[in-house]
Amino acid sequence: MGTPAEEAARRRTFAIIAHPDAGKTTLTEKLLLFGGAIQAAGAVKARGDARRARSDWMKIERDRGISVTASVMTFEHNDCIFNLLDTPGHEDFSEDTYRVLTAVDSAVMVIDGARGIQAQTRKLFEVCRLRDVPIITFVNKFDRESRDPFDLIQEIEETLALEASPASWPIGMGRDFRGCYDLLHDRLVLFDRGAGDRILPAEECHGLDDPKIDAALDPVLAAKLREDVEMARGLCQPFDRDAYLAGHRTPVFFGSALKNFGIGELLDGLERFAPSPRPQVADTRTVAPAETKVAGFVFKIQANMDPNHRDRIAFLRLCAGHFRRGMKVKHVRSAKTMAINAPVFFLARDRELAEEAFPGDIIGIPNHGSLRIGDTLTEGEDLRFLGVPSFAPEMLQRVRLEDPMRAKHLQRALIQLAEEGASQVFRPMIGSDWIVGVVGPLQFDVLSHRIAAEYDIRARFEPAPVDAARWIEADDPKVLERFVEANRSALAEDHDGALVFLSRNAWHLRQTGEDWKDIRFNAIREHR
Ligand code: GDP
Repeated sequence: MGTPAEEAARRRTFAIIAHPDAGKTTLTEKLLLFGGAIQAAGAVKARGDARRARSDWMKIERDRGISVTASVMTFEHNDCIFNLLDTPGHEDFSEDTYRVLTAVDSAVMVIDGARGIQAQTRKLFEVCRLRDVPIITFVNKFDRESRDPFDLIQEIEETLALEASPASWPIGMGRDFRGCYDLLHDRLVLFDRGAGDRILPAEECHGLDDPKIDAALDPVLAAKLREDVEMARGLCQPFDRDAYLAGHRTPVFFGSALKNFGIGELLDGLERFAPSPRPQVADTRTVAPAETKVAGFVFKIQANMDPNHRDRIAFLRLCAGHFRRGMKVKHVRSAKTMAINAPVFFLARDRELAEEAFPGDIIGIPNHGSLRIGDTLTEGEDLRFLGVPSFAPEMLQRVRLEDPMRAKHLQRALIQLAEEGASQVFRPMIGSDWIVGVVGPLQFDVLSHRIAAEYDIRARFEPAPVDAARWIEADDPKVLERFVEANRSALAEDHDGALVFLSRNAWHLRQTGEDWKDIRFNAIREHR
């Protein structure tokens, strides 16, 4: 074990962002296979999708006791330790997804080669952009008919306003997919479909004129490759690590997760280019990973993993120091000291390793509700990490109680669920019905179910005359006061007491914004 600085330097903590079906699960599996998976944990439910239960994967699960549905997956490659944080996608897409992105240092964006940038890709990308998270792109499924690589690159540049530098260049596609030319190392990496989708050892080339290219490819493909690569080099920005780290440029790899093609190059790219844990901004100063005092923040809560105990696991991203089991840290919000006696480690190949963690690592802390999203734990002086956001919900409904006598209980349940990040709750200044906001519609079903099962309360969600929620702020408190007086019927407080404007429709929001130019209507709020 090295110092926090040395251990941090070999960590890569990242997430995969993708539109459903682009191949995130397949790529995750392959990365774990390729790197030696150490351990992964945090699974709550099995995905009910049979196609995910592929036999090779089941076998890894059995052999190594890991799960694809895990929240954190740790694997090694060369001397690097990779922490891959799962972003729940698909139907249960929620704020959780967004917040996971606050706990990573970089991301891999997977794009389906036939479909290009899709709605969810763009949404997740925007969240990365907010924090300038550097992105490596993997264009997947080149073993199928795909779009022209130039087209795809142009689409990335135009729809995401992100400079794209090809790191590899595909040779053919679909049934004629022959592999890639590795632009970073001048190598030919061939894919041999005839021999059962085997990947041949890379052939080092001395530039594009190397006769090895002619020996390996038929003349038409060789000519096209030369032409494409020359054009790509002429048209696209060359890869530049600083521009990548600043979040302005993305290296683009082409491959096929299903056929194992391009995984090694991607992993190499992550190792060489992706940032190790970055300094984290706190309210009083920036905290560097090399610091010796442990500090970290909670970015996710997973509740009721065991329905018989109302337990929660708080996921803490370590930002500094050397964490040891049993150590005492200060919970800054409550000013209390906590002994972390039973942490869940995700880096736990054997018992000895399970005792400690370093910057970039995630630990799970069982608790009974004392830890909330955005909380800071620290061994050093008081500080609060910034940047764990709440996003304005996209769907808002009113909660109706079947038994009005249970109003206090409902209030407690709604606030607890909001603290955990499962939903947002707003108490209008006028009227008594609580408004609940979520990002995805399925969350309402999950919420009613949890309110019934965990709190024994019957409640229904009903449409509310509310279209959007915006946190409001003004530099001048007098302006804010006047605004509140004039708009009382459209105002509410969230579970933290922050002021929220609930608009009736898009027009109402736009018009109010125009009428009150000194008021900021924020779609994002930071936890403090
Ligand atoms: P996710 O929804 O992003 O997690 O996507 P999955 O990994 O579950 O993949 C969606 C579908 O695409 C599955 O049927 C996969 O087998 C398939 N798939 C994933 N990667 C590839 C690939 O590289 N080539 C082909 N042909 N199919 C792929």
